[in-house]
Parts: sequence; structure tokens; C-alpha cells
Amino acid sequence: MSLPPLVEPAAELTVDEVRRYSRHLIIPDVGMAGQKRLKNAKVLCVGAGGLGSPALMYLAAAGVGTLGIVEFDTVDESNLQRQIIHGQSDIDRSKAESARDSVLEINPYVNVILHETRLDVDNVKEIFAQYDLILDGTDNFATRYLVNDAAVLLGKPYVWGSIYRFDGQASVFWAEHGPCYRCLYPEAPPAGMVPSCAEGGVLGVLCASIGSIQVTEAIKLLTGIGEPLVGRLMIYDALEMQYRQVKVRKDPDCALCGENPTVTDLIDYEAFCGVVSEEAQEAAIGSTITPKQLKQWQDDNEDIFLIDVREPGEYEIVNIPGAVLIPKGEFLMGDALERMPQDKKIVLHCKTGVRSAEVLAVLHSAGFSDAVHVGGGVIGWVNQIEPAKPTY
Ligand SMILES: [Zn+2]
Repeated sequence: MSLPPLVEPAAELTVDEVRRYSRHLIIPDVGMAGQKRLKNAKVLCVGAGGLGSPALMYLAAAGVGTLGIVEFDTVDESNLQRQIIHGQSDIDRSKAESARDSVLEINPYVNVILHETRLDVDNVKEIFAQYDLILDGTDNFATRYLVNDAAVLLGKPYVWGSIYRFDGQASVFWAEHGPCYRCLYPEAPPAGMVPSCAEGGVLGVLCASIGSIQVTEAIKLLTGIGEPLVGRLMIYDALEMQYRQVKVRKDPDCALCGENPTVTDLIDYEAFCGVVSEEAQEAAIGSTITPKQLKQWQDDNEDIFLIDVREPGEYEIVNIPGAVLIPKGEFLMGDALERMPQDKKIVLHCKTGVRSAEVLAVLHSAGFSDAVHVGGGVIGWVNQIEPAKPTY
């Protein structure tokens, strides 16, 4: 499947640009038209780290006219083993500024736009809307799903890559023409199950292998040449020196790009990915009960106030008998605290125990020190108490 070019050609190349890009211009598939498209292209790199480093450098060298960089971190000495866009003298500098300087040293004709902020639900759409294509070099699941969902909702293609130790993966996700990241990975792995590069390590040069696939795909999409990596996942094993390809189909039941989507706008990605704050972890210590304990209390007619802190749509799918629905947001806004009984033991639950732990921290700090939450949430309840009920 070949796709039309993403970008219209710029009006012209200057004499200097013709000299600079001559080795592109003499490739028939690229030529003057392709190079003019690159000049007109706006590409956003999410992260100027392991994957962002080679990606930004080659996109700059290739003559992509506008490069956006989303990055809020500073350069650390331990980054230099793989993040080759930064150097010794950049330690403690803003990564975004360091990356910009390197890009301009490679190619002064690139217009670099810095977004020195953490990508979140409030800024992602506005930032993405300014670009033709997104290149995702993030290393955490919450941002990965955020990037995917924003790209799908805005109809933007994005080139994804991931690296760990000696293994890498890359694909192009573009819901209009193929699957999205959620079609491949509908659920985030349980928090703490997948170690990050900081925890598990990564062979530095692996970044170049995967980053170069990402840039290759970006150039192909921008200029409309070749077979894009849409609907295919590249899997690279550096130790075996093997590239494998796996077909990825669009999932008709995908929560985001499927026929009956349940995710129609950006969500709480930290909660979706089971990222538990330190406050929530502390609150949960000694204040977590099992679904069986909850059942026991209900059977013993204990005076408890059971609160489901999920969203109404989730409550409709499955709920625990006797639970009152008060979504997490109402606790964070403070509205729900007035409705808390003083004479009953408060028991919170959510889907798996992440959101309820967050609310637990709020309740504890508001003085409801004997409030508890159900570890495993409604999923744990169904598994242990009511296996006939649906899960989601
Ligand atoms: Zn999908």
C-alpha cells in the first residue's frame, strides 16, 4: 500500500539548498519535488532522548523545514551513552535547547520550535495540530497512549519506536489507513511490570537502529514514496542481528479507532497506565482491603459507605452491589468531601485500585483517616466474588 505525499512541495529551493541536498536530488524517487516537500514539512519529535537524538539529527540533515521538539528535561551525564544529540558541555543544560543547537549546527535552514513542557491532555492537541507528522520517542506508557490517542483524534500519522536492552520495535500508526497503537496494545501493562531504560538499561546504539527506521518512515510518508510501515510492526533483535515483521491489523473492537469507540476524547493516562503517585502509595499502606474482606463486611452488615470512584460508563458495565458512584474528579475538585458520612467507615474502589488509592490519599489528608480502599478494584471483585459478571 503506497500513500499520497503528506506535504505539498515548497515553492522553490535556494541555490544553497540545491547544493546541500544534491545527493537527494539525484535520487529519482526523491528529486526536486520530494526535497521541496521535505522543506515544507513540519515534524514534531516527542522527546530529545535516545530515539529523539538520531531522529532529530537525520530529519535536520534531510532538510525537513520545521522541526518541533517536546522536551522538558535537562541533560544528564548518564544520557550521553546514547543521546548523541547532546554532548559533554551540554550537561545540566535544557535538552530542548541543546537539541536545537545541534540541529542548527547540522542544518541552519531548519526552523526549530521548542515546546519546553511536559506533554499532557491540556496541551497535546494544540501542539500536535501545528505539525504534519509526529515522531514518538517517549519511554513511558502514559505518554505513549497520550500520543496515540491525540494523533488518532486529530487524524495525524505518527511514527512510533521503542527500545529496551538489545530489542527494539517500530511502526507507523495512522488510524485512517491502518491500526493505531491501541489496536496492537489495547491495555497498558500493569504498573511496574515493564522496566524502563533507566531501570533495565539499553544498548546505546540500539537508538540509532530504531531511530533510523523512524526517520526513514517519516521521509517516506512526507514525500509519498515507498511502502509505509502502516499495519506492520518491525521487531529488531540486536544480539541475533535479526529484523522480523509482524502484521498488525486494525482491531474493529479497538476502544479508540474501532467501530464502536468507547474512548472518544483524551483520558487520564496516568490512571490508565496504573501510575500511582507517592501520596497514593503511602495512603494505601495499611488501608487496603481485599474483595473478600469487603464481602465479609457486607455479609456481617458492617456500617460501611462503599464508593465507586470510576466514571458512569464504567459503572454501567459492571459494579459492586451497594456501591455509590462518585467519580474521582469530584474528590479532586473537593465537591465530594461534603457528602462523606462522619459515622460510617468509608470504603473506596475503582477498576483495579489505582484511582481509589489516589482518592484515598485525598480522604486521609481531609481527616478521614480510617477510610480504606479495595485492592484489585471491581476486577478483583468479579474474579473472586462474582465470576459470572462481565469485566472490561
Ligand atoms: Zn486502534
